Amino acid sequence: MKFVEEFRQRDVAQKLAAAIATEADTGRDYRLMEFCGGHTHAIFRYGIQDLMPSNVHFVHGPGCPVCVLPIGRIDNAIELARDERVILTIYGDLLRVPGSRQNSLLKLKATGADVRMVYSTTDALRIARENPDREVVFFAIGFETTTPATAVALLTAEREQLSNFTVFCNHVLTPAAIQNILQSPEVRDIGSVAIDGFFGPSHVSSVIGSRPYEFFAEEYQKPVVIAGFEPLDVMQSALMLIRQLNEGRHEVENEYPRVVTRDGNVKAQRLVADVFELRREFEWRGLGLVPYSALRVKSRFADFDAERRFDVPTIRGTDVKGCECPSILRGAARPTDCKLFGKVCTPENPMGSCMVSSEGACAAYWSYGRFRKAEEAAA
Ligand code: SF4
Repeated sequence: MKFVEEFRQRDVAQKLAAAIATEADTGRDYRLMEFCGGHTHAIFRYGIQDLMPSNVHFVHGPGCPVCVLPIGRIDNAIELARDERVILTIYGDLLRVPGSRQNSLLKLKATGADVRMVYSTTDALRIARENPDREVVFFAIGFETTTPATAVALLTAEREQLSNFTVFCNHVLTPAAIQNILQSPEVRDIGSVAIDGFFGPSHVSSVIGSRPYEFFAEEYQKPVVIAGFEPLDVMQSALMLIRQLNEGRHEVENEYPRVVTRDGNVKAQRLVADVFELRREFEWRGLGLVPYSALRVKSRFADFDAERRFDVPTIRGTDVKGCECPSILRGAARPTDCKLFGKVCTPENPMGSCMVSSEGACAAYWSYGRFRKAEEAAA
């Protein structure tokens, strides 16, 4: 199958592994952060860490939109869904994310609240058309990849004067989060989180292009390689990062030119700019308040903004005691550092968002079970 099998070939993987083993300098470590949860899952699913020399480390980053959503926003959604006028439409990943006091939208749905899983904004719009006497709220979440679809939904609602449709906007921005990580005391001052280079997100970059990363590469002197999600993409990107580090370069390179260009999808960017504007700050789980890191609905679309229509308050929730999601999302801890991992917290009974989402680091560790080998070796 084109674009899948050709990026999973065993013999090519072996050649790349050999090249990495040859070129990685045994006198140093390479700590490479994969920002995106899609890369984390590729690394675990295909056992890529096992193909790396012992001095090449993958540091998992905050690139899972469900994981970084603060508990307060889940609490907001739960309150919205409690309103009997409301049909809350959401992506499936969000259903089981714990809010405060281990509440979740799934538990609320079980009590009779009208929470409906959708696959796209088109589904949410259809539900609004079919239920003119109800308030249909779409829980919009995601990085730059999914924002254009929400923009189109808002433009459609405006065009059709779909007055019972609103968006609860939780779209966040990748470059601001990377900058926040690079400026964090753990990275800059204490050095407890060492990051030598970044795998740049692939789907996000198909929209925003590779240009926005040029600032980080220059300012913080960290190489960035935009990497596809297939195993050979990740391995080739690791090799490119190692080469940059060996040569003292800090540039933005694009391993994923079959999808990503320097300028990205300009039409999608215009759509987003028409409909959304920057929030002054937004809370990220693990990172705290990050300036200019999220979008809100422009006032022109105020009638379709759930935060304005329902007067949604700012809520600061607290994570379950012992949950290490915040540290994991900053690259400061691994899922196996959490005392709840695999004991109290499993995908069937998630205590934190990192175990819920298909892109979460805890879910990746648990689902592919590679930590078990390390445990067995230590036993
Ligand atoms: S294992 Fe569960 S409780 Fe621990 S950090 Fe991950 S999500 Fe949180």
